[in-house]
Amino acid sequence: MNYDLLIDLHKGNKRQGPGGIEHTKQALALSGLDRAKPLLVADLGCGTGCSTFVLAEHLNANILAVDLFEDFLHVLSEGARKRGLDDKIKTLARSMEDLPFEESSLDAIWSEGAIYNMGFEKGVEYFKRFLKPGGILAVSEITWLTKDRPKEIQHHWDAEYPEIATASDKVKILEHHGYCLNGYFPLPVSSWLDNYYSPLESTFASFLSKHVSDDAQAIVEAERTEIALYKKYSAYYSYGFYIAKKVK
Ligand code: SAH
Repeated sequence: MNYDLLIDLHKGNKRQGPGGIEHTKQALALSGLDRAKPLLVADLGCGTGCSTFVLAEHLNANILAVDLFEDFLHVLSEGARKRGLDDKIKTLARSMEDLPFEESSLDAIWSEGAIYNMGFEKGVEYFKRFLKPGGILAVSEITWLTKDRPKEIQHHWDAEYPEIATASDKVKILEHHGYCLNGYFPLPVSSWLDNYYSPLESTFASFLSKHVSDDAQAIVEAERTEIALYKKYSAYYSYGFYIAKKVK
């Protein structure tokens, strides 16, 4: 995988995965986080900061924006400066699998479209130690919307991310690891097409004229295939947003 090319394709976009400002706000409302209280929050796999900025705007919080890739964090820092949010956001180039935080130190852990990088169950188990008792975990995760689905899409996801499951199965995992569910909602089609895939598609031509290589072609082809598959099977899967509380 050519990460430099992949980063270059994605870093000019507002989001690096499906979602939307209104959905981050909806999750915030379900979290019950006190907007007046000083909070410490981590946004894991933050990309260029679409959710980080919403959190900084709506909470009285110090936010640790964590991503594996510096390039995304540079764009995030620039965006924070432009919005006058730079005093509330610190960036950290680090894997979400190896966090330097103190145990029981965070009021909330946020992660949109990124926990799959370490796997949902491994992530919810690992992150819990960093939350204060009563702390909030808000994550979006690829989720089946129906009990059954066509073979083609089942096979695709079995190969790509076998942890894909229905919301009830994901909630069981959260409960098993000591969280109690505050709320769940599936992201709508617009959060994929209008907010993520369409802006991404509009950059393919300029990306391919900047990078004339088989690798670049292959990356765009893979994105096109993913988009076509989503358009065909959007009734069957989405990201689900899970908002849960660490019980103790
Ligand atoms: N939250 C953003 C980005 C989602 S894309 C949004 O909703 O737009 C997934 C992000 O996870 C990318 O920015 C990628 O660089 C980051 N990532 C991948 N592996 C990671 C890891 N092990 N630790 C932290 N971030 C990771």
